[in-house]
Amino acid sequence: MEDQDGDLNRALMLDGNAAGGMLYDIFTAEMTGAPTECASCGRSGEVGSLLAFVQAPGLVLRCPACESTMVRIVRAGDVTYLDARGAVYLRIER
Ligand SMILES: [Zn+2]
Repeated sequence: MEDQDGDLNRALMLDGNAAGGMLYDIFTAEMTGAPTECASCGRSGEVGSLLAFVQAPGLVLRCPACESTMVRIVRAGDVTYLDARGAVYLRIER
């Protein structure tokens, strides 16, 4: 149910820049220009170029090339869950 591969709802899709505020909150860094690499297809690009789904319970960032989920962030009360196993790396500037 959570993974909707092959059934992406484009109406709920934004680009990664729309997620910038939430990402800034979590990383305390400007993330939209941060380089990242897709673990599935190897595409490199900036976080702001990823497909963002913000209507999910939390935030989902997908690769624009292969549509694999790269990052999931769920906030619940005072805690934040970060699942970035779909990304080889996220480079965070100090
Ligand atoms: Zn990919």
